[in-house]
Amino acid sequence: MADKRDYYEVLGVDKSASQDEIKKAYRKLAKKYHPDLNPGDKAKEAEEKFKEASEAYEVLSDADKKSKYDQFGHAGVDPNFGAGGFGGGYGGFGGGFEDIFDSFFGGGFGGSSRRNSNAPRKGSDIKVIVNLDFKEACFGKEVEVSVNRTERCEECSGTGSAKGTSPVRCGTCGGTGQVTSVQNTPFGAFQSSRPCNACGGKGTRITTPCSKCHGSGEMRKTKKITVKIPAGIDDGQMVSVSGQGNAGKNGGPNGDLLVAVRIKPHDFFTRQGFDVVCDLPITFEEATLGAEVEVPTVDGTVSYEIPEGTQAGTVFRLRGQGITKLHGNGARGDQYVKVNIEIPKNLNDKQKALLKQFADSVTPSNYAKKKKFIDKIKEWMK
Ligand SMILES: [Zn+2]
Ligand SMILES: [Zn+2]
Repeated sequence: MADKRDYYEVLGVDKSASQDEIKKAYRKLAKKYHPDLNPGDKAKEAEEKFKEASEAYEVLSDADKKSKYDQFGHAGVDPNFGAGGFGGGYGGFGGGFEDIFDSFFGGGFGGSSRRNSNAPRKGSDIKVIVNLDFKEACFGKEVEVSVNRTERCEECSGTGSAKGTSPVRCGTCGGTGQVTSVQNTPFGAFQSSRPCNACGGKGTRITTPCSKCHGSGEMRKTKKITVKIPAGIDDGQMVSVSGQGNAGKNGGPNGDLLVAVRIKPHDFFTRQGFDVVCDLPITFEEATLGAEVEVPTVDGTVSYEIPEGTQAGTVFRLRGQGITKLHGNGARGDQYVKVNIEIPKNLNDKQKALLKQFADSVTPSNYAKKKKFIDKIKEWMK
């Protein structure tokens, strides 16, 4: 993840580039690295470059994603970094990107090529949602998710042909997977090719389909997969489990399993990044005289010395008592405790008398803030 290139660098444009410039830059790269134009030993590298450019374009051409990227970098838009939210995943190869491509090139590439049906393709990703409570998210949890996915048929090893048989060359297209037609128009003869319907562009046909998968080469299965949710995960973040999605096509890699995490709100803890915040009600006497109080933390309660004369709204920090930081080698955030002073109600006569007696003893030095305020008013009234 660390070596992921900057999207602006990928497209070779400036941060201030207009949407038009971004589009132009992407077009240029898409043409240069399109898989159909880079056969043979350059194919792999070209495909990588092509994917990289498509990914960069998908983010930078979307105002919302672009602004997140500008603010947070890859972490703002990549589900594997978290913070991207549920809509954050890009489909990679074979997703919405094909539409972008078609809109640029009108579907045909110089009229000749379509995506090769025999080319290895990555399987699609599967998204699931997992609900955790506050504490589980703090400390991480292994969860078991049930995934209904396509897998390569074991019977035929994904070929679709029954054991002992193999596919034969398609008679309609002669094994090329393409059929060519010539159209005569007032401007001359136009030759165009399209994928062969008879074999779906594969160039071969299955004569005896595998009895288990009926020739598709894949089977739908429900699997239970254990996913390790790391300590410190936040609401809306995703964990990606490589290769546990749907089966790839033509020997391509499997898709990924993307686990989106939702966290139930806690009764008295809230989260700010990796810090935990909580309100602590203390009594008027505790605030006035000082006291040792119990403070809840995610690890359990700790005792804390409230100093004499603590004011309402005072915030104490418990260093290192917050949430374990993702990728932080065990480092933790802090806990902030906001003091909330409760004024006593329903006093009986004896209590009132005691308090009255106290009130009579009060001097301006006991209430410095109030004295200062009154002085200011006097100044203002002059
Ligand atoms: Zn054919
Ligand atoms: Zn099979």
